[in-house]
Amino acid sequence: MRKKYIIGNWKMNLSKNEALSLVKETISVVDGNVKANIVFAPPFIFLNEISDLCKIKSGFSVSAQDCSSNELGAFTGEVSSKMISSAGVSYVIIGHSERRSNFKETDEILNLKIQQALQNKLQIIFCCGETLEQRENDSYLDIISTQLSNTIFKLGVDSFKNIIIAYEPIWAIGTGKTASSLQAQEMHAYIRSLISNNFDKNISDNTSVIYGGSCKPSNAKEIFEQDDIDGGLIGGASLNSSDFISLIKLF
Ligand code: PEP
Repeated sequence: MRKKYIIGNWKMNLSKNEALSLVKETISVVDGNVKANIVFAPPFIFLNEISDLCKIKSGFSVSAQDCSSNELGAFTGEVSSKMISSAGVSYVIIGHSERRSNFKETDEILNLKIQQALQNKLQIIFCCGETLEQRENDSYLDIISTQLSNTIFKLGVDSFKNIIIAYEPIWAIGTGKTASSLQAQEMHAYIRSLISNNFDKNISDNTSVIYGGSCKPSNAKEIFEQDDIDGGLIGGASLNSSDFISLIKLF
């Protein structure tokens, strides 16, 4: 049985007080029957405290939004996978489209980050997604295939078991425009077929593939009900507790 996830990617939002209240409220309201793993991905500076709060209830954990491609040393401002892991954090997001475009993260850099994360026993939420132009010129399946082949499909089976794939069409991130459930299911089924071809069907059946891109309580139910969709990576709607809790309650 594949694991389900609701992961809140806060990006560079919320003050410390806002962050702690959001987490406390979510933890107090969500009961133990929810069938998804709930993960908060706050900025680095809040990881420690939120990680401690998440220990109160099972099913909650934290993720870093990024990690360095280097192990340690003179890299001012960077945070290593070893630091993240030693702070009690279990997950890291790698390959988010905002990092790829705003910080020019190439496949080569992503592969170094993946190696650092794996060496420090972090589970990786690996993002892939196509632009609007690629969607409209029908190259979107090839684009995703290439993004995965150049990165996580180079891993051995044991390493790959630490990967959660997040399909995030770039045209749907933060735009209010979500993929239809049909578009999302088509891509998720395709990603699953690629995993099967690259590894095997058993690995494919057991890999969680989640959807991200303007998910909100009003549109996510149909998306999360699709056979190959195992939950969501949530940006904007993870910043207020009532939307985030409503999304969690869909599981
Ligand atoms: C994201 O940035 O991962 C994301 C899915 O954002 P939003 O939900 O705001 O589109």
